Order: sequence, then structure tokens, then C-alpha cells
Amino acid sequence: MAEERLPVIINESLCKACGYCVEVCPKNVLEMVEALDVWMGAMAKVVRPENCNRCKMCEIICPDFAIDVAERGVEITFTDSQGKVVTKTK
Ligand code: SF4
Ligand code: SF4
Repeated sequence: MAEERLPVIINESLCKACGYCVEVCPKNVLEMVEALDVWMGAMAKVVRPENCNRCKMCEIICPDFAIDVAERGVEITFTDSQGKVVTKTK
């Protein structure tokens, strides 16, 4: 049975809003968004999860270990940017 999770998860309590993950992502999955409740005033967000190819570049570059990418081959189910529930293994 597929695990319910996004292909890429950002731990918002660890994110320092450097933007490196947004710059490195080859699939335009992530964006910096305004977040007035944190002192940096911004936060990385997963906005197009269906585009993620699980390359882990974002996870590797994040200096604050704030990103967790699902392993390739593991079946997951999540809601995409269009509100559709999808199941994927990569
Ligand atoms: S690289 Fe890490 S700390 Fe920097 S914006 Fe992305 S999630 Fe936040
Ligand atoms: S794993 Fe790769 S494709 Fe997915 S969000 Fe990170 S950098 Fe982008």
C-alpha cells in the first residue's frame, strides 16, 4: 500500500529561507513564499510536487537538513497542484 506523503517534504522549523533548494531544483517544484510568522519573512514551499523526480539535489544542498525526499521506487500517494490525488514510484 502506498505511503501518504509528498515526494519532497520541507521541515519549516528548520528552514532558514536561503533559497538554495529553489535555485537547484531542475523541475521547478519549489518556490520561496512570504511567511510573516517567521523571522526570515519567507519560507521554501513545495508547490508542484507532481514534477519531482526524486533527484535529491534539494536535500543535498540544504545547509539546514530541512528537506526529506522519498526514495526512488517507494510508492507514495499525494495531492498534486491541481488537487488531484496521484500515486507514484518516482
Ligand atoms: S535550502 Fe533548506 S534552508 Fe534553504 S530555503 Fe531550502 S529548505 Fe530552507
Ligand atoms: S528531489 Fe529534485 S526534483 Fe524533487 S524537489 Fe528536490 S531538487 Fe526538485
